[in-house]
Amino acid sequence: MYFVLNNEQEAFKKMARDFTENEIKPVARELDENEEFPWELLQKLEDVGLANLGVPEQYGGPGIDSLSYSLIIEELSRGCAGLVVTSSANGNSLAFYPLLLGGTEEQKERIITPICEEGKLVSFSLTEPGAGSDIGAISTTAKKENGEYIINGTKCFITNASYAAYHTVFANVIQNDGTKKLSVFMVDGSTPGVIPGKKEKKMGIRCSDTAELIFEDVRVPEENLIGNEGDGFKLAMKTLDMARPSVGAIALGIAQAAYEEALTYSKDRVQFGRPICENQAIQFMLADMATEIEAARLLVYQASWLKDKYYEDGSPFTRQAAFAKLYASDVAMKVATDAVQILGGYGYTREFMVEKYMHDAKIMQIFEGTNQIQRQLIAANILK
Ligand SMILES: Cc1cc2nc3c(=O)[nH]c(=O)nc-3n(C[C@H](O)[C@H](O)[C@H](O)COP(=O)(O)OP(=O)(O)OC[C@H]3O[C@@H](n4cnc5c(N)ncnc54)[C@H](O)[C@@H]3O)c2cc1C
Repeated sequence: MYFVLNNEQEAFKKMARDFTENEIKPVARELDENEEFPWELLQKLEDVGLANLGVPEQYGGPGIDSLSYSLIIEELSRGCAGLVVTSSANGNSLAFYPLLLGGTEEQKERIITPICEEGKLVSFSLTEPGAGSDIGAISTTAKKENGEYIINGTKCFITNASYAAYHTVFANVIQNDGTKKLSVFMVDGSTPGVIPGKKEKKMGIRCSDTAELIFEDVRVPEENLIGNEGDGFKLAMKTLDMARPSVGAIALGIAQAAYEEALTYSKDRVQFGRPICENQAIQFMLADMATEIEAARLLVYQASWLKDKYYEDGSPFTRQAAFAKLYASDVAMKVATDAVQILGGYGYTREFMVEKYMHDAKIMQIFEGTNQIQRQLIAANILK
């Protein structure tokens, strides 16, 4: 195994780190406090070419390898995970993958290219009030009629739902015999009957938008069906495989930021006449943090590398993608909690960023398949 980044990967990492220091960190706390959608930062990411990272060049994305992609996400997440979730729900990971994996050339050029060029947002609309971990329980329907599908249903917890120009929507096409085929549609957000609903007030990633999305007799042309009727489950699972290394990378960035702040603070804070880092209790916490972050990093980088191999030759990487998401998010939660502990009472206040890292870390264990579901998936994979 060869663990050295190439020059291009180093350059992306540096560029993202500079962006984080200069653009994100100065405003991250304020955006979080005000629960303000980060339009300006999204535009700046677009301007420097750090948006839609998962999109190939021919459709308007940067066309970078998946390890560079994760390096960038990790660095940006040291600044604000809410911004990165907003950007990642778009072409970075979730929403475009069904189309990239199962769409025709015509669909990709017609839908992805203008969205990238115009800097618009897309949502990945899978979850419903009755269908979270269990996507087999999806109740949104699509009825075929005269060359169109008519979609009805309610989605919830959808990132970017209030602002997206397009929605990647999972719905069941009801067959003549009454059976259902889970399918995916690209739905133009301006179509009559697409109604953004209640916005969630969240524990963390508070500058990101999470909202309900209601579909009332929404007419979608049949050319916006991705793949065939019945491809929905397969495309959802493959999309989540592709996205999990990115969730791991966001978690890694949060953990790294929390660790850095705790390390600095432990050298400055004096109690009992010496810096608190001179106590073994603090040293062991820092040592565990550093070790676990490094282990998470290796899993995230490995899964990212395997993602490219999947593109090249179809090699499976479901297990490694789940390892990366599961481990890195558990590490982020633990490291951020310990970082708050190292800062003591000050860590519990909003004056210090470790408080934000701790509340942002929690969602990493929940979305894109909870960590219980990751463990189930890994167990099924090793027992098959
Ligand atoms: C901020 C935020 C952003 C999100 N963004 C999106 C988005 O863009 N698009 C989208 O489609 N969804 C999105 N989601 C939804 C997210 O993916 C779901 O919340 C998640 O999959 C879990 O579903 P649930 O909340 O219904 O929990 P449930 O499925 O009800 O699970 C509740 C608890 O039960 C456990 N559990 C459930 N089933 C089992 C089982 N079989 N075995 C063991 N334990 C089990 C779970 O692990 C969890 O601990 C988002 C959610 C949040 C909070």
